[in-house]
Amino acid sequence: MKAVTLVAAGGLQHLRVQELPEPVIQSADQVLVQIRAAALNRLDLLVAEGLPGVTYSFPHILGSDGAGVVRAVGSAVRQVSPGDRVMVNPTLSCGQCAACKSGEDSLCARLRVIGEHYPGTAAEYIVVPAQNLAAVPANMAWPEAASFSLATLTAWRMLTTRAGLQHGETVLIWGIGGGVALGARTVVTSGSDTKLEVARKMGANVVLNHRKADVVAEVRKLTGGQGADVVVDSAGEESWPMSLRSLKRGGRLVVCGATTGPLISLDLRRLFWHQWTILGATLGSRREYGEILQLAHAGKLWPVIDQIVPLDEAQRAFERLQRGEQIGKLVIEVTQ
Ligand SMILES: [Zn+2]
Repeated sequence: MKAVTLVAAGGLQHLRVQELPEPVIQSADQVLVQIRAAALNRLDLLVAEGLPGVTYSFPHILGSDGAGVVRAVGSAVRQVSPGDRVMVNPTLSCGQCAACKSGEDSLCARLRVIGEHYPGTAAEYIVVPAQNLAAVPANMAWPEAASFSLATLTAWRMLTTRAGLQHGETVLIWGIGGGVALGARTVVTSGSDTKLEVARKMGANVVLNHRKADVVAEVRKLTGGQGADVVVDSAGEESWPMSLRSLKRGGRLVVCGATTGPLISLDLRRLFWHQWTILGATLGSRREYGEILQLAHAGKLWPVIDQIVPLDEAQRAFERLQRGEQIGKLVIEVTQ
């Protein structure tokens, strides 16, 4: 089968499209899926660079998001059957530890991620546990289905379970995000006016170009001088000081990435005086995945697609992601 692989860590120059043996079902709970489309995430770039503490076995197949058709199932699988249209949840949890038993899969002591610690979705076939598959909503096309899981699940957990975003609150989101409508007022920033126009169409209430506007002053103005209830920061070093200055007393700052660098500084006196809460979030639980699936089946959560490229031209999509030019998800069409 054809697959998008890394032959070494250290960057996209090690990316290849190559022939590999098809994976085979090795345990009763596994399913063989023929992938129709795979979608990219910033995580893929981090994987390509080489993540500390992660040992790859090369060639490593990239991709955490994908969707396709079930081709074979292990003897204990009841949830799906050959022919089913499915999408992949990349969260691999052990099911045995205390966190898993309490329903908190993403806090699993042995948490692994498809495409990071496990062969990815950017290949013609993948074998995954049946519990990592969900039915694709009837009117959702392959590119959208492939794009759905990782970003939506992460955003959902971050805003609901972690930040506890409430109706009527103001949330500041650095960098264009998905259009999660929770009855909150969303203030979205980007360095690109084109991206902001899309964000506005997706339902953002206020859009700010952070290269031109004074984001802190604007947020203060919008909130009667108080600051945002919730700030979502996935940028890290560049936005962090402004995230804190935009946050109201008692506000919550939630972090799910560090695209401009991972090391920040924090004056602890400001933390306790303002009684801020700083939260991390990654992926989500099976319950949260069930919640976003329900919203997708109801047509309320729908990924936005930037570009679709054929498998042989995957490199182009990864480079576009690295340059940050995409508006929405970059999709690799794996099988037609
Ligand atoms: Zn576990």
